[in-house]
Amino acid sequence: MTKLRLAIVGAGPAGIYAADILLKAERQFDVSIDLFDHLPAPYGLVRYGVAPDHPRIKGIITALREVLDRGDIRVFGNVNFGQDITLDDLKKHYNAVIFATGAVRDADLDIPGIDLDGSYGAAEFVSWFDGHPDFPREWPLQAKEVAVIGNGNVALDVARVLAKHADDLLPTEIPANVYEGLKKSPVTDVHVFGRRGPMQVKFTPLELRELGEQNDVDMVVYDEDFDYDEASKNAIATNKQVMVIDRVLTKWRAEEPGTASRRLHLHFYAKPLEVLGEDGKVVGFRYERTEPDGEGGVRGTGEIRELPIQALYRAVGYFGSPLDGVPFDERRGVIPNREGQVIDDDDQPVHGVYATGWIKRGPVGLIGHTKSDAMETVRNLINDQADWWTPEEPSEESVVALLEQRGVRFTDLGGWHELDEHELALGQAEGRVRVKVVPRDEMVAISRKER
Ligand SMILES: Cc1cc2nc3c(=O)[nH]c(=O)nc-3n(C[C@H](O)[C@H](O)[C@H](O)COP(=O)(O)OP(=O)(O)OC[C@H]3O[C@@H](n4cnc5c(N)ncnc54)[C@H](O)[C@@H]3O)c2cc1C
Repeated sequence: MTKLRLAIVGAGPAGIYAADILLKAERQFDVSIDLFDHLPAPYGLVRYGVAPDHPRIKGIITALREVLDRGDIRVFGNVNFGQDITLDDLKKHYNAVIFATGAVRDADLDIPGIDLDGSYGAAEFVSWFDGHPDFPREWPLQAKEVAVIGNGNVALDVARVLAKHADDLLPTEIPANVYEGLKKSPVTDVHVFGRRGPMQVKFTPLELRELGEQNDVDMVVYDEDFDYDEASKNAIATNKQVMVIDRVLTKWRAEEPGTASRRLHLHFYAKPLEVLGEDGKVVGFRYERTEPDGEGGVRGTGEIRELPIQALYRAVGYFGSPLDGVPFDERRGVIPNREGQVIDDDDQPVHGVYATGWIKRGPVGLIGHTKSDAMETVRNLINDQADWWTPEEPSEESVVALLEQRGVRFTDLGGWHELDEHELALGQAEGRVRVKVVPRDEMVAISRKER
């Protein structure tokens, strides 16, 4: 029987689901899969994006782990595609590759002042509070008043973590340095700004409702944002999600002003114009009031407002990164593809090269969506057997030898179990779920039993 030697680059949900779906699919050939990740630990943004106070979502790791623990997928962590292993290497050892490298960078927000000291990307902050090894361990949390730009779930995650009291995050898996950092935060007011109306937001009702359930944090909404136009009324009547969002916001509008030590404000119809600075530091946020344009969008009203703030976070989306030797769409931040089959600048298939997950369709959608994505990609991979590469050295040992010869300190599935147990034990000692190990060297050393 023919054997498909498949490399998957990216051990986030998209890569793991793709491996699982292929192994379970009806097919006329055997399969042997190697899963590579730049990080020493698997699970991508489930470990390094999903907020620590969302244990139910973090729990998806259990299902992903079951796939890996089945024993028919080899994991190579701490291997950076483009540096430790290249496309030419993959062609030499595999029949095909699926890229599932996701998106970790912040999309740009092109307004004056965005580069001032005190202006941050949500992705950097998320990486800090989720203990990503490649980000600084100290985070400057000196601001009392903060703006968060964006109206998706990531904006709400950032606003919630900023407003929450550190002790309320302590039972989660946040690393020790994150607890210490948040504990010192003097924040009193977190302002979330959306360009459109409350019925056109991108966040989900569950994330919104959760904002109001925090200890010693009051929700503040403004009556001027609730003069609904026909499109908004129609959305409430026809869309259950929107109806629930309306209900949650209406409840907050009816509440008397609270006495909490922290407030989380939601502002709608606010188009960002400028981050204001003094001596290179953020001191304010200038925006234009917008109004519905009658076609489901908004237009500027010419009314300019300013709010004093000392820090600003832009949560306007994530953006994919290019990979060496692989086509890349600079405008959309994705690998150009037709249903997962990667295509070149002339729209022609790049044989043997596939994409799935956020790097395939852009950084939108929940973890579950990466499953349907993977199904489509895997179906094409199976049907394209005639176009697979013919590797010179297809043996499983040859890849291990290559990485060892290059001195790559790769981690494997057993190594992840070591690290996982180590983190759980650290947590247990403190009565917490887990304490994440942050420094990459330490993660690798624990995984490789070098200490
Ligand atoms: C802040 C935030 C919160 C979220 N919260 C939720 C939530 O509550 N619920 C929900 O359902 N979804 C949530 N999501 C969405 C969810 O995280 C994504 O849908 C999902 O992670 C996308 O999966 P992926 O595998 O495509 O990418 P990723 O999860 O990003 O995985 C990509 C993997 O590829 C690896 N990689 C990248 N480049 C290389 C390289 N050069 N070499 C080797 N490996 C590489 C990365 O290290 C990473 O492990 C959230 C996303 C963010 C950003």
